[in-house]
Amino acid sequence: MKEKTAIAILGATGSIGTQALDVVRLHPNRFTIVALSANTQVEQLVTLAREFSPKIVAIANETLYPQLKNALSGTNTIVLAGSEGLNAVATFSEADVVISSLVGIAGLKPTLAAIEQGKTIGLANKEVLVAAGSYVMTRAKACGATIIPVDSEHSAIYQCLLGETLQPEELWLTASGGPFRNAPLKALQAVTPQQALNHPRWIMGKKVTIDSSTLANKGFEVIEARWLFDIPAERIKVLIHPESIVHSLVSFCDGSVKAQLAEPDMRLPISLALGLGSRVANNYPRLNLFSSALHFEEPNFENFPMLKIAYQALRTGGNAPAVLNAADSVAVQAFLEGKIGFLDIPRLVDAMFEQNFVNSNDSLDSVLQTTNFVTQAAHKYIQRYYM
Ligand code: MG
Repeated sequence: MKEKTAIAILGATGSIGTQALDVVRLHPNRFTIVALSANTQVEQLVTLAREFSPKIVAIANETLYPQLKNALSGTNTIVLAGSEGLNAVATFSEADVVISSLVGIAGLKPTLAAIEQGKTIGLANKEVLVAAGSYVMTRAKACGATIIPVDSEHSAIYQCLLGETLQPEELWLTASGGPFRNAPLKALQAVTPQQALNHPRWIMGKKVTIDSSTLANKGFEVIEARWLFDIPAERIKVLIHPESIVHSLVSFCDGSVKAQLAEPDMRLPISLALGLGSRVANNYPRLNLFSSALHFEEPNFENFPMLKIAYQALRTGGNAPAVLNAADSVAVQAFLEGKIGFLDIPRLVDAMFEQNFVNSNDSLDSVLQTTNFVTQAAHKYIQRYYM
């Protein structure tokens, strides 16, 4: 029997990737790194390759291949690049678990490649299920792939469902509410990227932090939950919980409610995926309920229309979530670049829904094509109305 769990990480230099490597460092006898990829952070990837001696590394940006290859000459690590390189990391035969933590729709194809190989996947890349959830879960089932969520809320629900045999009545996704939870609608007009990036409870990548501030992230998580746990959107609720201690809840047919609580630390859901669904011990700070009051409130759908739009996209079905995903990606980038305001993010997304992109086709081709069309249209829209 193999003694160590072999790990491949797509997106090793990002927020999730680096935290996954932290967990691996804590348990060198339990885990081994066999494959790593990065998008553009070539120097960091070189450092990681020297530290962990993976069998293969891949840099997504092909122009950086010579630099990576050069830096790792004389080592036993095979150096790859581009989409073929990402695919090689995703499908590496020795890997027991693939951490899918690329940012954006770029993660869809490599994650699907891992699914086609029947891998166990620690899924941190939201776009995979937001844009193509129906298709992805169908393929996962057909190929015998296991998906373990690496999102704190879905990991919480996953844990609440362990040992349960009956369908839950409802899933309750908690949300911190972001930095503007109590801000009046008028004040949201003038929000700067800097303010939006200042999340009260979690340290995350830029895209997901902005999405948290608009509650788009929670909307995406509703979509993820719908596919991951095969439950209709009407039975998925959002609960504002500013302390981010209760990571989500599940209610059952007898009125029982189970919740998972912990200090907010992404290394916990990551650990559960690395442990193939089993717990991994750590020495991180423990939750102290003597000094933590817990509060819950209803979300404000008026100030945060992205949440409403996400439910709407699920109800519409077909490629509607892919439209939402693509439009939001462009909108968030434009907001970060100072091209549009905070409240223009939902406006831009709404505008894309008015442009007849939505149809009932949720195949992979449809999702990818929709993503391209909407991305182009959203850029055009910004050029026309904001520049
Ligand atoms: Mg989350």
